Amino acid sequence: MIFETRCAGCDKPGAPICTTCRFALLGPAPRPSPHGVISAVPFTGRARSIVLGWKYRNRRAVSRHLAGLIVNRLIETRAQHDVDMVTWAPTSTKRRRERGFDQGELLARAVARQLGVPCRRLLDRDASASQTGRTRAERLDGPTFVARPGLDGVRVLVVDDVVTTGSTLGAAAAALGDRGAVACLAAVASTPDRRIAEVVPMRRHAAASAA
Ligand SMILES: [Zn+2]
Repeated sequence: MIFETRCAGCDKPGAPICTTCRFALLGPAPRPSPHGVISAVPFTGRARSIVLGWKYRNRRAVSRHLAGLIVNRLIETRAQHDVDMVTWAPTSTKRRRERGFDQGELLARAVARQLGVPCRRLLDRDASASQTGRTRAERLDGPTFVARPGLDGVRVLVVDDVVTTGSTLGAAAAALGDRGAVACLAAVASTPDRRIAEVVPMRRHAAASAA
């Protein structure tokens, strides 16, 4: 079996992310999502293809590139020095088993390396909350987490791949806050706000639907 390097975005043989796809990732940052999540790119068009392709191809190289996009946004917002530690919101055991890895963890490790700070697993899914003690609405709102103790005053950057409602990262921030940590939240891509999606130029619509 030959493992040929192909672009995560368009499947072209060659680099893990081809030049065309790299350029497609450059652009203004999306507006911060609910819960104040900083995201690098909108989850549309090529960016969407790359994030989806990341699961299947060149994980390490693509993680590094996507981590770089997050770090660049942090530098733009001058937040890159306000991070003592990087972590991720762990995915469910089921999803991890299906994929064989946790995308959030790969990303967190790559971001931490680029920022020169440690990466630690600080969060666990709150299993007790998943079945009992929560209303149906709360369950639908996303997972809850428990953070490791001893984080008083520690500035923690929590990263994730795609942010939609921000409820997962928001829950991560709440759990870290319970331990006295100060959380900063970032994602590679954010799904566009529906109200904004209605006014994006036609060309962007075409690119998104072609993806
Ligand atoms: Zn490409």
